[in-house]
Amino acid sequence: MIENTMKISEILQQDKVNLSFEFFPPKKDMPFDSVQEATEIVSKLNPAFFSITYGAAGGATHNTVKVATEVQRNLGVTALAHLTGKTLSREEVGDILSSLTEDGIQNILAIRGDLFPERAHLFKEDFLHASDLIRFIKEQGDFCVGAACYPEGHVESEDKREDIRHLKLKQEAGADFLTTQMFFDNNIFYNFMYRLRDAGVTIPIIAGIMPISAYHQIKTIEKLSGGTYPAPFIAIADKFKHHPVAFETAMLHYTCHQIIDLVANGVNNIHIYTMNKGDTARKIMNYLGEILTA
Ligand code: FAD
Repeated sequence: MIENTMKISEILQQDKVNLSFEFFPPKKDMPFDSVQEATEIVSKLNPAFFSITYGAAGGATHNTVKVATEVQRNLGVTALAHLTGKTLSREEVGDILSSLTEDGIQNILAIRGDLFPERAHLFKEDFLHASDLIRFIKEQGDFCVGAACYPEGHVESEDKREDIRHLKLKQEAGADFLTTQMFFDNNIFYNFMYRLRDAGVTIPIIAGIMPISAYHQIKTIEKLSGGTYPAPFIAIADKFKHHPVAFETAMLHYTCHQIIDLVANGVNNIHIYTMNKGDTARKIMNYLGEILTA
């Protein structure tokens, strides 16, 4: 068992700004170089924790557990391992939980996974929704379990109130915290927080922010997040779309300003979707500097 790692629920209670970072492991049989390099860079930036995503393709479990274990063991950063239930049986989840326990990983982000038709042959019926997976994990041991939430509503939801009712089910199933899908308009997040609290969702919420590095990412993100972009974001995208370096620099500044506004409004827990770009994370941290400790 690895010493000195913390439960995310304890980290979130600290009275300071916690910046966490997301990484994705390589697909089966692909090299680990890019994720190793990125995690190593970001480990020196005083991160609150690293989250490691889970892909539905073969080798997914093994690679998520491997990267999560390495960052905890070699870099000394608390790891949050993602786990998607839709492609797993109860027995398989039980086996994964045993490996995680053996490797000292006690933090899990329990999600359903996307229902992409091309993955339909992988789907199983044991965990229809994230709340089923959360409940099962909590029954198996002393894990700290997080879940996903969507400030603009989940893409499958026709009714935002219904979506929030489902988030309450995650809390009732034992979720310790929620991390948001990326958003680009902080007002949408503040409004979402108000509606969550009004509906009785009381667990900590981590605000998910993504630095956009290339114009083509915008369309993909629209499908994931709902894609409401405020005027300053659209102005940057329009002005610099044919100038990749200027586009990336301007968007980095946009992300930093989003974070500053969140911190100024008392949001202490912020998660950065790094897309394995360690250098981008470093630039953000350099830019923010004292803002994070003021
Ligand atoms: P659920 O909570 O099951 O919700 C899915 C839909 O079902 C929603 O519309 C919800 O309103 C509805 N619903 C929920 N409960 C019920 C119920 N009891 N009855 C009826 N309807 C219900 N994907 C990956 O493949 N790998 C990852 O590592 C990964 N990490 C992510 C991390 C974060 C922070 C986020 C925000 C998303 C992540 N995703 C990941 C994407 C995620 O798998 C998709 O968004 C997926 O479509 C929904 O997952 P969920 O856990 O929110 O599902």
